[in-house]
Amino acid sequence: MRATFALPVGGGLLNASANLPVGQTTLTQILPIIQTLENAIIGKISEEAEQAGSPVSCRAGCGACCRQLVPVSFFEAEALTEWLQMLPEDRRAELEGRFHRALLALRDAEVIEKILDLRWVKNQEETTQLAIDYFHAAVACPFLENESCSIHPMRPLSCREYLVTSPPALCQDPSVNQVAGVRLPLKLSRVLYTFGQQLAQDPRGWIPLVFLLAWGKGGEKPGEHVSGTGEEVLRKFLKQVAEMPSTENEPPVQTQAGQML
Ligand code: SF4
Repeated sequence: MRATFALPVGGGLLNASANLPVGQTTLTQILPIIQTLENAIIGKISEEAEQAGSPVSCRAGCGACCRQLVPVSFFEAEALTEWLQMLPEDRRAELEGRFHRALLALRDAEVIEKILDLRWVKNQEETTQLAIDYFHAAVACPFLENESCSIHPMRPLSCREYLVTSPPALCQDPSVNQVAGVRLPLKLSRVLYTFGQQLAQDPRGWIPLVFLLAWGKGGEKPGEHVSGTGEEVLRKFLKQVAEMPSTENEPPVQTQAGQML
């Protein structure tokens, strides 16, 4: 079924259409539609940034931001877990090894315990400090290969939304350099986090990407809690979009932590 709709973005509307799945559908199953919408928003805002003389400087082969604490919604975690399970044995084992080594390195840097103590969630200063500590642990995302994202088409929304306009060299240490970026009027990652908060009574509504394998072992299917026909699920998503506070007044990526959180 083809659906046409308009997404409120900033002061305007983004017209969109999508082929909806037939039959019982979950929020996780419409992620490809959400990712396409996110790409359209980012494309529009990036174009505006270029016209304003501050083009996005992110390029393939620059993975500096892939050493940050990356938030992943439960629904994206579910999709990535399913994808990992479909991989050939040797590829899956390679990725599992990288996740394992990343967790060990974060444990040795005493970052894991800080992540698990959720008190930082409600405190911006502590959130920034955690982002800095994580970055200083210098642990690359397990999906980073040759400084490029090996899961680019299905990378988390938070990765897509991190758009830098300052020189790439500054991203080598955003804890001391002032990294400048694009202000997005709507972040679809936040919409998914809100669904996650409602489901799991979790103050974040997301997990750190580096916890993906451990999370996947729990066999969680969060998407099933937001389900219906394809049209119903899309309507629920769009209703949540309409209820989201605007991110228009938030600072863009422009912190000394350069954080995605
Ligand atoms: S998922 Fe891809 S873009 Fe996101 S941090 Fe990992 S390697 Fe980088």
